[in-house]
Amino acid sequence: MTARILVVDDIPANVRLLEVRLLAEYFEVLTATNGPDAIETCENGKVDVVLLDVMMPDMDGFEVCRRLKSDPATSHIPVVMITALDQVSDRVRGLEAGADDFLTKPVNDLQLMTRVKSLVRLKSLTDELRLRASTTRNIGIEELLSRNFASEDTAPKVLLIDERKSSVERIQKMLRDRADLDVNSDPHAGFFQAAETSYECVMISTAFADFDPLRLCSQLRSLDRTRFVPIILLAEEGEEERIIRGLELGINDYLMRPIDQQELTARLRTQVRRKRYNDQLRASVTQTIEMAVTDGLTGLHNRRYLDSHLQTLFDRAVARRRPLSVMITDLDRFKSINDAHGHDGGDEVLREFARRLRKNVRGIDLACRFGGEEFVVVMPDTDGAVAEKVAERIRVEIAQAPFAIGQDGKTIEVTVSVGVSSVLKGVDTVAALMKRADLALYEAKSGGRNRVVAKAA
Ligand code: GH3
Ligand code: MG
Ligand code: MG
Repeated sequence: MTARILVVDDIPANVRLLEVRLLAEYFEVLTATNGPDAIETCENGKVDVVLLDVMMPDMDGFEVCRRLKSDPATSHIPVVMITALDQVSDRVRGLEAGADDFLTKPVNDLQLMTRVKSLVRLKSLTDELRLRASTTRNIGIEELLSRNFASEDTAPKVLLIDERKSSVERIQKMLRDRADLDVNSDPHAGFFQAAETSYECVMISTAFADFDPLRLCSQLRSLDRTRFVPIILLAEEGEEERIIRGLELGINDYLMRPIDQQELTARLRTQVRRKRYNDQLRASVTQTIEMAVTDGLTGLHNRRYLDSHLQTLFDRAVARRRPLSVMITDLDRFKSINDAHGHDGGDEVLREFARRLRKNVRGIDLACRFGGEEFVVVMPDTDGAVAEKVAERIRVEIAQAPFAIGQDGKTIEVTVSVGVSSVLKGVDTVAALMKRADLALYEAKSGGRNRVVAKAA
């Protein structure tokens, strides 16, 4: 994972110190020694994370953070405030200014890398969402990103697995009003609880009398249902080795005891945001795929989907020596329906036709809008005789009940012509199969319409 980190500090030696350590981890490093320069760099360059010193002359870190977070062009860039040791009031001010995380001077290497990597991951997700929002004009996502912290509208659902009562009570107090917190004191039961409910973060204490907390982490990572749930380890001073092993196993972040409320809030917020962005991204990918293969008017699959999927169904039927049939339906004199009732009236007829079509085919049949007023149904495991019956049933279903048009109870008679063909034993191809169905449809039209013609195999 590589990323561009902006280091901001008025003392060049401090800048250099962080720069060297980040370079050693193959990050790209930009530097600034005052607030205005830092803001300009963020506006111009592709900055992934800002490490921001609090104490600077003229414009201090809080003000820089506030400005970055209030400008839509830079508000999505994660900011880590670097505060003096034990300055709790600084952290509160930092959170109020919109900071995403904190580090205390002198900056510990493990902490530095964990925070930076965690925020870089979050940033790459928001970047992906922003990109998608601008290319697909997905209003939902655009709105989500422009409303700052929109994804934090609801309190995150969190599970704490910790057997020490005093520690649990402290964390409960810290997260009151900030999280919907469940607690389990038993690591085995906690594992099952994590698998059963969809949590947005699981916090695991390292302090079990006789249980290895890293085992729990690895179990959560190997189970499908919990693979992507963020894990924060609550560790003790001196447990660096264990934390490093945990990070290798896939925990997302850690906190050292005694736990600081601001840190806890900031870490939890970052993890939950990432999880929510991730979920959003996954949903938007699914939606994009669905939109690409769905006909907007009728909700049936579109021609693109048919083109890519028919070959698969055909190959499978041939390989398994199973029958396969297709029908092409074409509404009769549809142009005159449009002429008499307008394009909207025609669309209504198409939607109702699709509804009746769907109702009369099986779930494994593939019903598609082929284009205009033509529809195709692919029927696996169906021979020509059965397919002809299905086609006839659809023809009757269309002809016998008139279609409603508009709001005032008007109805019109609609009929459909259908061509049916089936896969031939011996040599056959998808193109030839479709061609035969098309010829059958042509015969149905020239034979007087409102009829089914099947090409015998
Ligand atoms: P035939 O019985 O020979 O099939 O006559 P037809 O009028 O149905 O055939 P033709 O293919 O000449 O006309 C199809 C019409 O369908 C022409 C086109 O304007 C209309 N059409 C195509 N797509 C849509 C659509 O999405 N909505 C509406 N309302 N009409 C459409
Ligand atoms: Mg037509
Ligand atoms: Mg037609």
